[in-house]
Amino acid sequence: SNFVPPIRSNGANNGHTTSRNSGKCDDAIDDSTKRCLEMLCGPDGELPEKLRNLEPRLIEHVSNEIMDRDPNVRWDDIAGLDHAKKCVTEMVIWPLLRPDLFKGCRAPGRGLLLFGPPGTGKTMIGKAIAGEAKATFFYISASSLTSKWIGEGEKLVRALFGVASCRQPAVIFVDEIDSLLSQRKSEGEHESSRRLKTQFLIEMEGFDGGNEQILLIGATNRPQELDEAARRRLTKRLYIPLPSSEARAWIIQNLLEKDGLFKLSREETETICKLTEGYSGSDMKNLVKDASMGPLREALRQGVQITKLKKEDMRPITLQDFEDALQEVRPSVSLNELDVYEEWNKQFGSLS
Ligand code: ADP
Repeated sequence: SNFVPPIRSNGANNGHTTSRNSGKCDDAIDDSTKRCLEMLCGPDGELPEKLRNLEPRLIEHVSNEIMDRDPNVRWDDIAGLDHAKKCVTEMVIWPLLRPDLFKGCRAPGRGLLLFGPPGTGKTMIGKAIAGEAKATFFYISASSLTSKWIGEGEKLVRALFGVASCRQPAVIFVDEIDSLLSQRKSEGEHESSRRLKTQFLIEMEGFDGGNEQILLIGATNRPQELDEAARRRLTKRLYIPLPSSEARAWIIQNLLEKDGLFKLSREETETICKLTEGYSGSDMKNLVKDASMGPLREALRQGVQITKLKKEDMRPITLQDFEDALQEVRPSVSLNELDVYEEWNKQFGSLS
């Protein structure tokens, strides 16, 4: 009740703005925070209702560190995953683009879970959704809420959902969501993390079913840790598996072509794909990086000085470079981990 809005429309704040908690002018906030709050003010120059009880520095943190104004990933940047792309387009992108058509029976779920091994493109999908649906993208790692924001996680969660509701349509991507909504219970669970979890679920309830255009995407490598409440709220659950052979070929070609370095034949690319069974998308990227160092390392071995080396004199990247790189870059996911995902997918995944 003693809140003083940090921004006034009539310029009456003569440079002094107050934070909510003390209401005192000596608690002045700095210029960057002020600018950030100004950008969130409505046409009337007032801060929206939802943000009024929040600490300005947390609003600023969400706006500057968590909000990504230009996620810069398109569907075409993501190899394979056709099933996930199709589901997401229907469930998320169309409703965000045409909210008027997706009401009543067609009302979309507000929670999406992407699960699968690390480095398979879950974050890329989140960013691509925001890009394709022209939505604001918010990225937060749930483990940072529990580690970095000890004791403040709840407030940050409120600020996150508050800013998102002022930036609709919005996509909130929560990485490692299992560390927030896990089923590990009671005795071991600290009071603070229980409160954080409750706050998070309350916020989700808040926008679910309303007219808000906010989508929550949770990503996890450990879906089996999620509890029933989390599963209930993340209504669509998509398995994001390791890339197929075709997807691996696409990643190699796409990454090298971007730099004008793709000179491999189809057969050579196929050989690399056979040798990279079990590699994630992220492993493939590391492999390509390492292989692309091959021509450079060779030139240096032959005595050319790095300062004199001309790009046009370097030989193309060969199959041998990839074979050498395979000794360095090993797959990061073990095959028996995959069984856990397959099983969970059968039990809880959205298969169609
Ligand atoms: P995750 O969120 O599943 O752990 P990311 O989306 O962060 O994985 O992917 C890490 C990196 O690996 C990406 O930046 C990209 O370079 C590469 N990558 C992973 N999966 C794919 C894919 N399907 N297509 C293209 N690149 C991929």
